[in-house]
Amino acid sequence: MTTFRNFIAGEWVAPSTGEYFDNVNPADARDVVGRFPKSTRADVDRAVESAWRGFAVWSRTPAPARGDVLRRVGDLLAARKEELAALMTREMGKPLQETRGDVQEGIDTAYYAATEGRRLFGHVVPSELRNKWAMTYRRPIGVCGLITPFNFPLAIPTWKAFPALLCGNAVILKPAEDVPHTATVLVEVLLEAGLPPEVIQLVHGMGETVGAALVEHPRVPVVSFTGSTETGSIVGQECGRRHKRLSLEMGGKNAQIVLDDADLDLALEGVLWGAFGTTGQRCTATSRLIVQAGVHDRFVAMLEARAKALRLGDGRQAGTDVGPLIHAASREKVESYVGVGAEQGAELVTGGRRAEGAGLEHGFFFEPTIFTGVTGGSRLDQEEIFGPVLSVIRVADADEAFRVNNGVKYGLSSSLYTRDLNVAFRAMQELDNGITYVNAPTIGAEAHLPFGGVKETGNGHREGGWEVYEFYSETKVCYVDYSGTLQRAQIDNY
Ligand code: ADP
Repeated sequence: MTTFRNFIAGEWVAPSTGEYFDNVNPADARDVVGRFPKSTRADVDRAVESAWRGFAVWSRTPAPARGDVLRRVGDLLAARKEELAALMTREMGKPLQETRGDVQEGIDTAYYAATEGRRLFGHVVPSELRNKWAMTYRRPIGVCGLITPFNFPLAIPTWKAFPALLCGNAVILKPAEDVPHTATVLVEVLLEAGLPPEVIQLVHGMGETVGAALVEHPRVPVVSFTGSTETGSIVGQECGRRHKRLSLEMGGKNAQIVLDDADLDLALEGVLWGAFGTTGQRCTATSRLIVQAGVHDRFVAMLEARAKALRLGDGRQAGTDVGPLIHAASREKVESYVGVGAEQGAELVTGGRRAEGAGLEHGFFFEPTIFTGVTGGSRLDQEEIFGPVLSVIRVADADEAFRVNNGVKYGLSSSLYTRDLNVAFRAMQELDNGITYVNAPTIGAEAHLPFGGVKETGNGHREGGWEVYEFYSETKVCYVDYSGTLQRAQIDNY
């Protein structure tokens, strides 16, 4: 079995403890992908010290030259797309078509970052005084600690690392302990593309040790975290205490709304992909289906038939629609919601059990599950399950649908199926989410647009697109007075 290493201070090194953990294939827990370092604070300390040396070099490299490195990263990811998709499916479980998409998102993010190297605009603004210029430019900040989840093993680390690097920062990546192999290959690619070695550090290990060490380290001024709301709130408190710049991307309880006038066939494809793609383990997964009364029964019948026909299996096998959950604890959590549904009077239409057919015995599979009769305010309506469980809520009209959509503490994405343009535009205005899709599912973000949510999903920052470059850089304002006299703003002209 392969033993993997951290990348610290320009070298692939063993953890200071000499201890490792096993990374297993969730479709077959007997298959161990490799042993990965169980690092500690001492490893993080070394990484931070080295990253500041990397920063000294990289922050002085012209932004277009930094962009050139990221363009090569995009080229290398494209060349290794199939290999990366296969190893990602092995350690994470989602089918190959999805892991190929995950790699493509990394490629898109790399090429976007490359071109941003020739923009990274500041402003030149008229001064209120004569013979004086005022301007802004974007300045690198320092060392960024990036803490990432398991569900997009490549895409999410690239969303954070590429803009951070393009802006001239050094990066310490702490990938989720379930998907450390993909992160290892990402670092190999960055180095092969010509990134100076100390600019990137990879520290594997557990969240409570390595993640916490990054969050608490006084010399890591920037933290970007994607994961559960519970962990995000710990990270938020720790960073707040230390006045760190922090981006949080957390939970969702996203709804697809289907109104009476919707194209039901289209809405059906949308909800199947939104609810059961990635086995429901996306922050943008469709976990609620809000259906208007006029089409409710017909649409649920259509959905039940298709959900029952979804094929579970190893994501590397052709024909697999739905892979396993990430680990045993996650399956137990999902299973516990079957009891919650029963207690709260919801009707189990399909699923609700571990899937244990041929070839599934050793994986963490769970049947696609649908509850109807879910009421607004109940636990199935409110709580993020992070699994293949869809709660169907019947509503009288669009206004009630909007109220139910907005009646949760999260606000990541929402989706509306209708042919009525007026209702669609009203929804874009009324739905309390960072992203609203019209006639498309709750998932499907594109790399060049901002991504993020409102309310308890996030803390106001966005990943992706142009906005993320503001997070990873500091605005510097420069005034140049070439009048040769003392000119006093707010005083001399008034
Ligand atoms: P998920 O349920 O999506 O795995 P988590 O919030 O548990 O979400 O994990 C997301 C990332 O946060 C992982 O890389 C994990 O190791 C890390 N993490 C977990 N606990 C902490 C913590 N206390 N401090 C910092 N990072 C943590």
